[in-house]
Amino acid sequence: MFAKIYDSLLTIVYPQACQICAGSVEHSADGIACRVCWESTRIFSGSETICDKCGNFLSDSGAPVTTFCHRCDEHFYDAARAVGIYEKALAASVVNLKTENHTGATLRRFFISASHQSNFPGVNLIIPVPLSKKRFHERGFNQAATLAEIIARETKIEIDDASLTRQIHTPMHRAGMDKKARELTVKNAFAVKRSELIKDRTILLVDDVFTSGATVSSCAKALKKAGASKVYVFTLARAV
Ligand SMILES: [Zn+2]
Ligand SMILES: [Zn+2]
Repeated sequence: MFAKIYDSLLTIVYPQACQICAGSVEHSADGIACRVCWESTRIFSGSETICDKCGNFLSDSGAPVTTFCHRCDEHFYDAARAVGIYEKALAASVVNLKTENHTGATLRRFFISASHQSNFPGVNLIIPVPLSKKRFHERGFNQAATLAEIIARETKIEIDDASLTRQIHTPMHRAGMDKKARELTVKNAFAVKRSELIKDRTILLVDDVFTSGATVSSCAKALKKAGASKVYVFTLARAV
């Protein structure tokens, strides 16, 4: 207990090392990455070409017409957006959020401004992608819920972290698994406990990272089956 307090005092007094370049983090708001690393991380500005459905990054410059990547055609959510590319400060933030239930002010600011930019219409319920019971007990918190609370505090929209559950425990280390195998491990992994709380809702589903989209699609499938009218997905980072 005292060691924990002492550690957190130390990080306030002494500058922390950037988890990317090992330079010093001079602004405590920047958290685990220095200002230079934050500035070189690609944060979506709205002028890129992305898939209109899944938010897949397609090109740096804007396209004159609405574009679809079609890799997401069978996904169950209505649209997905992210703060930026899974690299540098955003990648380090995602990794850090798995062990530290804490976010810096810079990350929160980007998260809120990207959620405004996403402009999902009529959202009236926020749901974090759940962990399995086993994983939740190992970790002590759900990093998707930590992120979901940032939006909930800002928008005052209700958060529900109990109705959607993850039934199947998927192994942590999924490297080496191809897209098909990853999709199979999350297929039907989610269920809705109380459909009456989901029915006719427009839901913002929040997660840390969008990789293949299989996880959020599987969540959206369960939510739609329970009567959700729309499911929008919002993540901190987007893998390319
Ligand atoms: Zn750095
Ligand atoms: Zn797409």
